[in-house]
Amino acid sequence: MRRYQGTFELIWNAYSGEAAWQMVCDLSRFHRIQASPGHRQAAQLVRQRALDAGLEAEILSYPADEAAHFWAFPSFQEWECEQASLQLVQPAASARRLADYREVPISVIQRSSPYDGEADLVLLEDGEEDSDYEGLDVAGKAVLTRGDVRRVYDLAVERRGAAGILYDGMRVVPPVRPEGDLLDVRQYTGFWWRPGDRKCFGFVLPPRDGAALRRLLKGNEPVRVSARVVSRQYDGAIEVVSATIPGNIDQEVLVVAHLCHPSPSANDNASGAAAVLEAARTLQSLIRAGSLPPTQRTLRFLWLPEMTGTVAYLSAHEDDLSRIVAAINLDMVGEDQSQTGSSWLIERPPDAAASFAPELLSILREGMVGLGGMADVSPSHTGVGEFPLYRMAESAFSGGSDHYILSDPTVGVPTPMLIQWPDRFYHTSADTPDRTDPKSLARSGALAAAYAYWLAAAEVDEAAELGYQMVARFKAGLVKEAQAAVAEAMQAEDSDQLAEVLGQLDRRLAYRLSRQKAALRTLERLATLEYLVADMQSELDRTADREMAWAQGAMDQAWTGFSALGKKRRKREPGEAVEPPQPQSVVRESTPAEQEGAELIPFRQIRGPVPLQDYLWKLAPVESSAYRALLATRKGASPGTLTILALYWADGKRTVLQIADLVELEAGSRDVELLVAYFKLLDKLGFVTLQPRPV
Ligand SMILES: [Zn+2]
Repeated sequence: MRRYQGTFELIWNAYSGEAAWQMVCDLSRFHRIQASPGHRQAAQLVRQRALDAGLEAEILSYPADEAAHFWAFPSFQEWECEQASLQLVQPAASARRLADYREVPISVIQRSSPYDGEADLVLLEDGEEDSDYEGLDVAGKAVLTRGDVRRVYDLAVERRGAAGILYDGMRVVPPVRPEGDLLDVRQYTGFWWRPGDRKCFGFVLPPRDGAALRRLLKGNEPVRVSARVVSRQYDGAIEVVSATIPGNIDQEVLVVAHLCHPSPSANDNASGAAAVLEAARTLQSLIRAGSLPPTQRTLRFLWLPEMTGTVAYLSAHEDDLSRIVAAINLDMVGEDQSQTGSSWLIERPPDAAASFAPELLSILREGMVGLGGMADVSPSHTGVGEFPLYRMAESAFSGGSDHYILSDPTVGVPTPMLIQWPDRFYHTSADTPDRTDPKSLARSGALAAAYAYWLAAAEVDEAAELGYQMVARFKAGLVKEAQAAVAEAMQAEDSDQLAEVLGQLDRRLAYRLSRQKAALRTLERLATLEYLVADMQSELDRTADREMAWAQGAMDQAWTGFSALGKKRRKREPGEAVEPPQPQSVVRESTPAEQEGAELIPFRQIRGPVPLQDYLWKLAPVESSAYRALLATRKGASPGTLTILALYWADGKRTVLQIADLVELEAGSRDVELLVAYFKLLDKLGFVTLQPRPV
């Protein structure tokens, strides 16, 4: 993208990380719980700033009530909190204030219902199992727990009549937040009510205060708290701010950031919201000044409550989805890396949504290092070459933010994410503006602006150039696959293992090739490139063939050489002719789950992903607890991510077994049993129908 470097430099120079940082401070003051007056005020501020910058901007409003649904996502009521405070009143000698919403809005469990009174406090170990309640009477009392708040609600409040929950846990975020870190900080915790729930109150305590209460509770004296929550829940609204720089053809590029979360939540995600606002302002001012030509596609910037706002907006614009060529999601982009311990990541969309989008973003980011005046870039000690001083990496799709909805193939908007992770202060009261960094905001904001502008402006030449760049990167990917297989073959103990390594390489090359070709085809969204794309695809075919042949030859050589080193391998006699190794797939006896999975084809009945956690309660208790138990046995890759990936691959043609194969190729983890159970639950809930494979 050499020709584009000048455009990027213009954007970089016009972008103000300091202005974005001021906006982080402004937004941090609002308590931006999804569907709340605080979120509404933040939305109004963003809209006003976008108007001030000369964009067209409006606030779209969607129902926040228990009757509404956006695709598979249930809506929920609006919540307003006026006051919330918690005092320790007994033992009298220890009496003191434990929480005040005015000081720390995160000190109340979000969406707490009103309460005014005193309650005895009961200690739960974590309270996630029925056995934790043996010999305990929690009715009318408050419980102290570090367990999952939803689970404790079910067992302590719903089933046993507890009055409220005090939570003193702190999630570990390896390696930046080890066990025992952040003892004086409160973790962001919320209730997600379901229709018919007997709502209750709750508070969040710093672990140090929790430990002090635990000591008191192990003594002889009763421990009592006085709690007051003045709050209300009511049918309200969810706001989405939409601002545009209009183009002149009927296509759009989206730039998305979630605006929600409690105050301050500076990195998560006042940073993304502010970085996007400054990106919008920068592009608008450069275009208005004539420094950049207007784009043919519309640039649309969206600020919304995470997940809910995205499904609300997209489900209201179903007819427009095919006109959106791609998007980008900015979530937690303002990190001061020295404080948070983060790395600046491009998280790729899922493989089922293969496209040009992550490649474009990655190529542009590599180009940032060469930008004039670029902060945090150092020349080498002799001045030859330069490199960034910040940490950066690319990571595989893991979901957890709005790109997981946009990138779903049934939605069809390929969306990479810019994020900084891990973050020592993530989802705590310590996620404050002083832990964000104007330079960090500028890097993500200017990169997002450059990406969106490139896409909005791209015509046939740009699309072709990107295609050639993609081919180069994709070839490197095929070469790496072959190299990894050759390295693995060095460890093979016998010729069967060698043949299996080759068989796996064959499978991996075919998989990669299919994703790469699919990605190249999406260039057609930008321009008509029929012959060029076909030519690029054949070059990838040739590369895969060459790499396979090369790997076979290399393995043959290595085999002979290594036998001389005394490894337990078949030794080739002088003059002996040996067949070169051939790929072979392992034939194993299939498991019951594999046999079942091979016969079932899932058909998706609804657009977008399914937040299964929101529906488990609708199942018979025996079914939901069986699924919960299955999840609990899974180690390693998150079963949540594997199931999301599986749903993306379900196209009404593939069997569950074929889907499990693809998920394995994508995420490195094969779990047919989990996926069979998952699709059966979705079938029960009506989100897919499982049909037998036609004979
Ligand atoms: Zn977030």
